[in-house]
Amino acid sequence: MRQNDQTVVLQPLSPDYDPWDPIRSLRQYGRHVLTSVEFTVTNLCNMRCEHCAVGDALTMTEGARVPLADVLKRLDEVEHLETISITGGEPSYQAKTVRDYIVPLLKYARERGVRTQINSNVTLDLSRYEQMAPYLDVMHISFNYTGADDFHSVGFAHAGHPVGRETASAMYERMMRNAAELSKGGMFVSAESMINFRTHHKIADIHRLIGEMGCRRHEVHPMYPSAFAADLPQLSLEEIRAAIDRLLDNRDPDMWMLFGTLPFFACSSVPADQEIVRRLRRERNVTVRNDPDGRNRLNVNLFTGDLFVTDFADLSSLGNMATDSFNGVFDRWLAHPLQSGVDCHCDAAACCGPNLLVADAYYRDVDFKRRRAYV
Ligand code: SF4
Repeated sequence: MRQNDQTVVLQPLSPDYDPWDPIRSLRQYGRHVLTSVEFTVTNLCNMRCEHCAVGDALTMTEGARVPLADVLKRLDEVEHLETISITGGEPSYQAKTVRDYIVPLLKYARERGVRTQINSNVTLDLSRYEQMAPYLDVMHISFNYTGADDFHSVGFAHAGHPVGRETASAMYERMMRNAAELSKGGMFVSAESMINFRTHHKIADIHRLIGEMGCRRHEVHPMYPSAFAADLPQLSLEEIRAAIDRLLDNRDPDMWMLFGTLPFFACSSVPADQEIVRRLRRERNVTVRNDPDGRNRLNVNLFTGDLFVTDFADLSSLGNMATDSFNGVFDRWLAHPLQSGVDCHCDAAACCGPNLLVADAYYRDVDFKRRRAYV
């Protein structure tokens, strides 16, 4: 909402207002439309996490990006744009990326009333994140640890060379300090944890530390076999359900908990699935987000200009911004056989079907188009 030429009054993000959830635009327009664009602004990172969703794409050097003016021109064409996400690598790895791309993109979004998120490990100099603060809606960090030892084991698993415990510990401390400082300064810090073989028993302890850093939201996703995580042990559906119950039993009820890419659906005939779906619905300050990937979002590689429907599926590029509009590529995706296979929608359950990784990991033989929500 624009109050006058200078001031844009933005609706606070809350469990009642999550513009990244594709169910909102599906309801509004009666079909999936492009409302969300994600930019991969770097493939450099100071970490090599065991589970990294883009791990295979990480590099040690990188070349020139598509000019910012061309990017903004393509964004101008996206009529229904509501959110922009910025990802990497570690987006702030180089100070000039923050200055020349991240801050201008955030300013553009703020002027248009578009909401923004950056995915960062916040282990670098605090000033890089402070530069974004005036224009950024969500600082999204990964947090899967109960202490520096976890961080050391998880954060450098693919480094290819030994990283000393002291180095890791100093980075862990800085991450905790930065998250706490940014939260204290008023930034909306959302910490994401994965439910996986390492975290499922200690997810409540992880949640407690996230609260201690002052984060406003805890985002929780099961881990799926993609990129660096492809060879890690996969949890059973029972183990994932138990971890969610453990977390809900022990959480801070005043913190917003956002679950995403869950493998539990209202159309399941399994009583335990129905019970977890019901419980997630009735808990205060708990939301379950439908996944933007493959629904309302495109990913843009800022080095090649290639456009993808997700930043971590194995599907190759569907176009390039030099020749294709973002909407044109999104329409191409809507006609793609992979999309039509999981394109279901049960409005009463606020569900628009599984993400492709979820369907592939747990429901290979299920035709979701033939199912309807029971609960
Ligand atoms: S939208 Fe699809 S996945 Fe969701 S409840 Fe309905 S049939 Fe199941």
